[in-house]
Amino acid sequence: MTDTRNWFEAPPLTRQRTLLASRRDGIYIEIDGKRLLNFASNDYLGLSTHPEVCAAAAAYLNRHGLGSGASRYVSGDDPLIHQFEQELAQWKGFESCLLLGSGMLANIGLMQSMADRYTRIFSDKLNHASLVDGARLSGASVHRYRHLDLNALAGQLERHQAARRIIVTDGVFSMDGDEADVIGLLHLAEEADALLIIDDAHGAGTVGEDGRGLVAVAGVQGHPRLIEVGTLGKAFGAYGAYILGTEELIEGLRQRMRTAIYSTALPGALFAGAEQALHLIREGSLVKRLQANIHYFLEHASGLKLLDSKTAIQPVVLGSDEKALEAAKRLREQGFFVPAIRPPTVPEGQARLRITLSAEHGREDIEALIKALSV
Ligand SMILES: *Cc1c(COP(=O)(O)O)cnc(C)c1O
Repeated sequence: MTDTRNWFEAPPLTRQRTLLASRRDGIYIEIDGKRLLNFASNDYLGLSTHPEVCAAAAAYLNRHGLGSGASRYVSGDDPLIHQFEQELAQWKGFESCLLLGSGMLANIGLMQSMADRYTRIFSDKLNHASLVDGARLSGASVHRYRHLDLNALAGQLERHQAARRIIVTDGVFSMDGDEADVIGLLHLAEEADALLIIDDAHGAGTVGEDGRGLVAVAGVQGHPRLIEVGTLGKAFGAYGAYILGTEELIEGLRQRMRTAIYSTALPGALFAGAEQALHLIREGSLVKRLQANIHYFLEHASGLKLLDSKTAIQPVVLGSDEKALEAAKRLREQGFFVPAIRPPTVPEGQARLRITLSAEHGREDIEALIKALSV
């Protein structure tokens, strides 16, 4: 007999995921009543609690309420979303922008609208789950290439011809903190007459002197073969996501994207907060402070077994799941929250501590963490 009590098999113990009842307070996080220094948030600039961001969200909330009530295509739209879309597009250097619920919805909807079973998708092996699932749901043939290996990608493009092909990659990779070679990829896309999707969820607000991310650093923003995706849930300190591209592309997505059409519009308080966050990112001092912290960490953490990352994501690879769990537990006892990331989120044998740095961390916080990691 089958019912909801035996539908799922018990997961293996090492894969067990439990929700941590926690509450954030700036760079601190309280778990089980214990206050810990938080090195586990993607709120890289501390904007989720910035008074101006919260005030902008609260002002919207007080005037217009909480939920948007319907899809944007029915009655959930707002002139202010259009305004923010234009602002984002202009800042990022693209013709047009579509805002929607989350990065997961953005990528799933994007890939579903762009690709079908006649399309071939070429995907970096370490791409975010939303890109992996989007590719899978689109019904396209998916070819995964070795992480960052442009030669492997070139070989696959040569072998797998089709009229419509798309290369898809994270910008800053979420679990490794390393970066896609945007110029190299765009070059291959041009040679192969393919499109290129870059999901720089972790690069926006953190990479480049002005925080515009990897695509702007490469100087290829607005290129007609290029689509950029990003989220408002990380450095923007809010929630939601954006897709950037040519006018024609974005209009095409507006007409087709099921995750935009059949989903309630992003609540206004979120994009109002995110818009204020954008102003603070553009102002520049928070981005500088984050980058100074990354620099400081790298200068002082040379004794640690770090991956080759220059970004705010600094993984310490420990190998076995047990080692990573043990280290995370020890750090927690010493007052630091650094999560152990294990397979299947990362490859087998590469369990790690994933440190994320914030503009709000002080030098002394970073020093204390390095000291705790060094024993
Ligand atoms: C976090 C992340 C997403 C998902 O974005 P959400 O807004 O959290 O759903 C998508 N892509 C990448 C690369 C990410 O790191």
